[in-house]
Amino acid sequence: MSSDPSATLLIDGEWRTGASTFEVADPATTELIGHAADATTADARAALDAACAAFPAWRGTDAETRGGYLRAAATAIRAERETLAALLTSENGKPLAESRGEVLGAARMLEWSAEEGRRAYGKVTPPAANGPGLTLMTPVGPTLAITPWNFPASMLVRKIGLALAAGTTLIVKPAEQTPLIAAALVRLINDAGLPAGVLQNLTSSRPAELVGELLADPRLRKISFTGSTEVGLGLLRSTGERLRRVSLEMGGHSPAIVFADADLDAAAAAITAAKFTNAGQSCTAINRLFVHRDVREDLVARLEEKAAALRVGHGAEDGTNIGPLIDQAGLEKVERHVKDAVAKGARVLCGGKRWTPERAELKGAFYEPTILADVDHGMAISQEETFGPVLPVFTFEDDDAVVDQANATAYGLAAYVFGSDFRRLWRTLDRLEFGVIGVNEPAPVRPELPFGGMKNSGQEREGGSEGIEGYLEHKAVAFKL
Ligand code: NAD
Repeated sequence: MSSDPSATLLIDGEWRTGASTFEVADPATTELIGHAADATTADARAALDAACAAFPAWRGTDAETRGGYLRAAATAIRAERETLAALLTSENGKPLAESRGEVLGAARMLEWSAEEGRRAYGKVTPPAANGPGLTLMTPVGPTLAITPWNFPASMLVRKIGLALAAGTTLIVKPAEQTPLIAAALVRLINDAGLPAGVLQNLTSSRPAELVGELLADPRLRKISFTGSTEVGLGLLRSTGERLRRVSLEMGGHSPAIVFADADLDAAAAAITAAKFTNAGQSCTAINRLFVHRDVREDLVARLEEKAAALRVGHGAEDGTNIGPLIDQAGLEKVERHVKDAVAKGARVLCGGKRWTPERAELKGAFYEPTILADVDHGMAISQEETFGPVLPVFTFEDDDAVVDQANATAYGLAAYVFGSDFRRLWRTLDRLEFGVIGVNEPAPVRPELPFGGMKNSGQEREGGSEGIEGYLEHKAVAFKL
C-alpha cells in the first residue's frame, strides 16, 4: 500500500498514485494544499474489472457480515472526526463546526446502511390460479457513484453505505475540488477489512472522459449521481442504446413559506440556518422566502439582525459562520443574480457585495450574507439555483396561492413551512411538489427518511427504508404447483 498522500486511487484493494496528479487548493486562500492522482481511462477500466470480479463473492456474503464492515468503518470515522473535519474545511471552505457535523452525519449514515442490508426483504404474494409468487431483491451489480464538492463527505458515504449493504460493488468518482476528503474516507472504509475490489476510488480532473469510458462498458449496471441538474440530465441521456439504472440527486430551488401564525424567533433562526449553512451552497438551501404580509416586517427585522451577526472568514478559524464560495464562477453567478434583481427593483437590505477581508491571504471568493426585499418572479434569482449566501424575500397574502408560487419551478428537492395551525400546515405540505419538507425544521435530511427530489431535482431516493432499493433489482418468481 502506498503511503504517498497523492495515492488517491483505490483499485482492487491497492492504493495507487496514477500516471499524473492534479492540484487541490484551499478555496479560502486559493493556496495549494495537496495533490490527487489523476485517474486515466486505463485506471477506469481496471477499476471496473475489479468491481466485476469482486461482485459474485460480495453479493454472496451475508448481509450481517457486510454490515459489520460498515459499522467498523463508522466507528473509525467517528474516531478520526477532528482530522477529517479539518481536511474537509481545507478543501471545501465550510466552517469547521459544519464539517464536524457532516463527518458525524456520514458515520450515522453508514450505521443506518449497515442495518438496512439485513432488511432488504422481498415479498410472498398470495397464491394465484397456478401457485404462489415471490419477489426477490437482488443487488444491481457494479455501480459508479459520482459525487459533488458541496457535501463531499456525506454525499459520498451515503452512496457507499447503501451500495455495499445491498451487496453491490462500487466505483466512486468524487468531485475534483474535494478529492482528499473522499480518499481519506474511502481509506477508512476500506481499512475496515473490505475484500479487494468491493470499493474503488477514482479521483480525476477530467470527469467527462473518465466517466465516458465507464459508461461505454455494459458491465456497469448503474450510475448513482449527485450534482448539478445539467450534468445529471446529460448522464441520463448518455445511457443511449444500453439502458442501465440511473439515480439522480440534482439541483434545487427551495421555497420557505412563513405563515402569519409562525413563531417568528424560531423561524428566523431556522431560516438563517437553512439559508446560510455552507455559504448557501446546499442543494436544500432556501432559495425563495415567502413571508405572509402581516409578519413580513417583524420577520425580516429578525433575519437582518441574524445576518449581521454572521461572521465571514476562513472556515478553520473560531467563530466563522460563512466561508468562501467554492470558486470564482460560483461568485460570479451570485453577483449576476443580485445585480439582475436590483436592476429589476429588488432592495438590498444587507450585504449585496463581495466581502473584503482585512487579511490579504484570504484571496478566495467571499460574498457577504445578503437579504433582498421586493423580489418578484421576473428576476433570475426567482428561477435559478443561486448557490450562495443570498436570501430573496417575497411577500404573500393568500395561503393557498403561495403554494402555487412555491411549486412554480422546474425543481422539486426541498421545501420549508413555518406556522402552527395544523390544518393549514397539512394542506400545504400535501400540495408542495418537493421530495423533502421541513415543517418548522431547518434540517429535514435524516438517515431514517428517504432523501431525493421530484421534477428536475432527481429520481430515486437515498436514506429511509427506500434508500437501499436504489441498489437492488426486483426479481419476480412465479411458481406452478
Ligand atoms: P457538478 O454537476 O458540476 O459535479 C458533480 C460531479 O459530477 C462531480 O464529481 C464532477 O466531477 C462530475 N462531473 C462533472 N461533469 C461531468 C460530466 N460531464 N460527466 C460525468 N461527471 C461529471 O456539480 P457540483 O458543482 O459539484 O455540485 C453542485 C450541484 O450539486 C448543485 O446543483 C447542487 O444543488 C447539487 N447537489 C445536489 C444534491 C442532492 O442530493 N440533490 C446534493 C448536493 C449537491
